[in-house]
Amino acid sequence: MVARLEPCPLCFSPYAALFYSSRDKNMERDFFRCPKCDLVFVPDRYHIGAEAENERYLTHNNVPADEDYRAFLDRLHRLPALTGPWIRDSSWMAYSVSSIAAR
Ligand SMILES: [Zn+2]
Repeated sequence: MVARLEPCPLCFSPYAALFYSSRDKNMERDFFRCPKCDLVFVPDRYHIGAEAENERYLTHNNVPADEDYRAFLDRLHRLPALTGPWIRDSSWMAYSVSSIAAR
């Protein structure tokens, strides 16, 4: 079996390995984890286009009081692999929201 590797978009290490495969409806994508900087990311091929992304963002306001925004972010809790103790700071979550929950 050949390991699936992707280049890390943060530190450019070429050795980010498959970390988790989601097959949930509307969430079918692979997540990779970088062994150098620990970033977990979704490769570009799973990203939606700019127009669809804009439509998605127009459905809510990025404030905690907005129920649609909370529902948008709540999708992260449905990914079992993303609930580990290695999630430790808000900058990682900001990256996650743009690269994962926007799908
Ligand atoms: Zn990295």
